Amino acid sequence: MNLPGSGLAKGLAVTLRTMTRRSVTAQYPDVQPQLPPRSRGVIGLLEENCTVCMLCARECPDWCIYIDSHKETLPAVDPNARARTRNVLDRFAIDFSLCMYCGICIEVCPFDALFWSPEFEYAETDILELTHEREKLREWMWTVPAPPALDPAAEEPKEIAAARKAADKLAAAAAAAAAAAAAAPAAGSDSGTDSGTDSAAEQGDAS
Ligand code: SF4
Ligand code: SF4
Repeated sequence: MNLPGSGLAKGLAVTLRTMTRRSVTAQYPDVQPQLPPRSRGVIGLLEENCTVCMLCARECPDWCIYIDSHKETLPAVDPNARARTRNVLDRFAIDFSLCMYCGICIEVCPFDALFWSPEFEYAETDILELTHEREKLREWMWTVPAPPALDPAAEEPKEIAAARKAADKLAAAAAAAAAAAAAAPAAGSDSGTDSGTDSAAEQGDAS
């Protein structure tokens, strides 16, 4: 059974406790929030990496990625080879009025062409303006934070290990070639001295 006034005391206790806590009110937009680097604000497109494989558009649950492309034929570099074709991007757009920020497109892109940017201030009064075309998606790329540093205890990535191994091999081959080149004239001069000595000795014998 509750004593009379216990509810009031409980309420006052909560009020007192809250009053002594530090305020967490964010003064946005006067003060910009400190967002975590992996915040999902907007998606940036690095066009140079995009091969128009269409994976992102196919996997997007909201069907809000629009890609147009055409094929271009490149002449064969070798007369015995066939001409090659490649995809050329004509349009890449994301409709952020439909996007649900699931990140699937970024996860599935096999060529690292899509990135999260923490920018979030792109509200529009016209919903059509929320479809960001490739130029705008490119602009967002400049706001993508640098990737975090690798864990020093982490295993070396395979491609870096392979590149380092190849570089070490090349450096060792170059060092061996340089050592051989340095040794060759010395050997030549040694043989020249020997023959000179021999001929002097022969002259001595003859006299
Ligand atoms: S984040 Fe999700 S919904 Fe938005 S474009 Fe990418 S896949 Fe589509
Ligand atoms: S998945 Fe990546 S490479 Fe493929 S079309 Fe989309 S952005 Fe381009």
